[in-house]
Amino acid sequence: MAGAVCLTFDDCTLDSWVDAAPLLTLSRARATFFISYFPHAVDGAGLSKLDFLAAAGHELGCHSVNHFHPQRFLSVFTVDEYLRTEVLPAVRTMRGCGISCTSWCYPFNASTPELQARLAELFVIQRGRAETPEQALAAPGDRLIFGRSIDTYVAGQPDRVNDVAPILALLEQAADADRIAVLYGHDIAPAATIAHAVAPQALMAIINKARDLGMSFVTASEIANG
Ligand SMILES: [Zn+2]
Repeated sequence: MAGAVCLTFDDCTLDSWVDAAPLLTLSRARATFFISYFPHAVDGAGLSKLDFLAAAGHELGCHSVNHFHPQRFLSVFTVDEYLRTEVLPAVRTMRGCGISCTSWCYPFNASTPELQARLAELFVIQRGRAETPEQALAAPGDRLIFGRSIDTYVAGQPDRVNDVAPILALLEQAADADRIAVLYGHDIAPAATIAHAVAPQALMAIINKARDLGMSFVTASEIANG
């Protein structure tokens, strides 16, 4: 076995994701897009873009309605209020549009044990951020996974905040151990058009490395489903 890659993208840069979709398809790379600012910031044209991504074999998951910081929200409000405000409107709308929406990603990668327990009733898998390389290696059946950033641009940080080399090394580690390397980016753009972006050439270097290692691409829900 050669391990696998779970490539995820967060937030709502639908245009750049649609632009990058042919590149992903040509490379036989499937991704999971965690959509935020949904449904209010996604109009009919936006929904068509989501349909396009789903039809290309990618998974669409939920990344909250307003992208509020979960822990800050919960310092004032209850978990039930979080679900009513940040989760359920997005899930209902997505499922109403025929999107199964079985995966969740935490805004700011911030969560609490109580929130994780409640969201486990709604989603088959949840994603946060890996604090160590080992934490970014998932196994089939996992329902809580942690991603390693692949963004090459992050607002307020030096250019090329992520060298690609350690990410390629993580892929080798996953391939050797037959594990699933979980990665996350945001916008796919040659420069910082929003707060976080991965340069297309860096993304391609990662995808090509995975292919060279014989790794397959799995979506987030496919990890949970073993
Ligand atoms: Zn986000």
